[in-house]
Amino acid sequence: MNLLAIAAETAAETETTQVVADYTYILSAFLFIMSLKWMSKVKTSRRGNYAGTAAMILAVVGTMIATHIEAEAYMWIFGAIALGGAIGIPMAVFMPMTAVPQRTALSHAFGGLAVGMVGIAKLLEFINAGQEIHTFIMVVLGAEILLGFLTFTGSMVAFAKLQELISSSPVLYPGRNFVTLTTFLVAIGSAVMLGIQPEVGPFLYALIISSLLVGVMLVMPIGGADMPTVIAILNAYAGLSASAMGFVLNNKLLIIAGALDGSSGLILAIIMCKAMNRSFLNVLFGGVGQTAAATAGTGEQRTVASYTPSDAAAILDTAKHVIIVPGYGMAVAQAQHTVKELYEELVSRKVKVQFAIHPVAGRMPGHMNVLLAEADIPYEALVELDEINPVFPEADVAIVLGANDVCNPAARTQKDSPLYGMPILNVDKAHTVMVVKRSLGSGFAGIDNELFYLDKTMMIFGDAKKVVTEVVNEVKNG
Ligand code: NDP
Repeated sequence: MNLLAIAAETAAETETTQVVADYTYILSAFLFIMSLKWMSKVKTSRRGNYAGTAAMILAVVGTMIATHIEAEAYMWIFGAIALGGAIGIPMAVFMPMTAVPQRTALSHAFGGLAVGMVGIAKLLEFINAGQEIHTFIMVVLGAEILLGFLTFTGSMVAFAKLQELISSSPVLYPGRNFVTLTTFLVAIGSAVMLGIQPEVGPFLYALIISSLLVGVMLVMPIGGADMPTVIAILNAYAGLSASAMGFVLNNKLLIIAGALDGSSGLILAIIMCKAMNRSFLNVLFGGVGQTAAATAGTGEQRTVASYTPSDAAAILDTAKHVIIVPGYGMAVAQAQHTVKELYEELVSRKVKVQFAIHPVAGRMPGHMNVLLAEADIPYEALVELDEINPVFPEADVAIVLGANDVCNPAARTQKDSPLYGMPILNVDKAHTVMVVKRSLGSGFAGIDNELFYLDKTMMIFGDAKKVVTEVVNEVKNG
């Protein structure tokens, strides 16, 4: 009788715990969805970030509530959290903004590795228990291990290319698609064999090794220029593998969060391909980026008109409408706070000042938005490509600040240019163009820029921060 009462009490307690965990999961899933929605707008992106963080904390807490965890296991869990935090926090704080793409690659790599290892652990659990594996579970388990491990090695290669630990050029050899496809099929075949005959043996090793190899084979043929797009695709793979893991572990939140991660990564990759005029399938299967530097410099000597910050200040003194075009060079020079000073000075003189934002200016999606937001430049002043392009002819001055490829008119006119077809900012339509950069050096695509040689263009050579500081001083004192 007593035993029955204890059993009933335990069952009621378990049910209450499950209900609490379920509600925590629902709230977490809601916050994950809202986080993506909020992050899609600059104005609400901070809120999106907080919502995502809260969702992840709730997901961890909910899992701890739902799972019966032995007391001593907490030591491992909190130990791992402390170790991860000790590595992750300094990385987030000290890595420069220009290194965010490679930092993201590292995060995906370890996320993928964790997913793959959980898959292996689950598989070993089935094998040790001598249990038959249901076909559906084997399919998702195979997907989890394959995608998890290929995300790991693919992201490590992307990291090495972006950090220039290895050459960023595409590695191409005849028959590479056949080799990649065969290795992929070996992974699938091994997963099928493991489903039929679950045991620790050659098929398990073949699954792990071929999955790791596929990741390397998919990313090696892709050039450095397309790495951020590849990272978005690897993000999608990591999300899909996590979603598969959700099915294996029977965890609904993991399925939802993984699917959100997978689909948003895929959408981002497609948007970036469009903005850079790349074929999505080419980026997916490799062999792109190799034409980028091929047309650099024709060797022809041409002249440009070089001006001083004081000349620039004199022109700005009479301007009524100024469009600032930030690019990678502004990020390198960390000139955003000085740009804010220029913005405030001009606005105080009743000048209309706008910032033209190209979707791939800089080295990661949203790079310019992040930098300008960091300097507290009002969101309303940031205008996207489609909206700002018709406005350039009305602008008295366009200041191109460390940008190059994103405003190269060759993208509109030169069919043989690697930039041809890429949507660009029509800076050359403004009345006067000021280009601030250190030399006549090319941008990321490695090609010359016609803009520098136009009669209306004033080249102001120097570091973006130094030049803008001098321009602000001249404008104030002028
Ligand atoms: P670019 O790379 O075309 O040009 C940047 C320019 O900044 C260079 O020409 C350089 O000229 C100048 N520069 C560098 N340091 C400084 C400095 N300290 N002060 C002043 N100028 C400086 O940049 P854009 O932003 O115009 O274009 C981005 C390119 O990156 C595009 O080709 C895009 O496709 C590519 N890309 C973008 C990704 C993204 O997600 N945003 C991802 C991958 C590639 P100089 O040396 O003479 O100073």
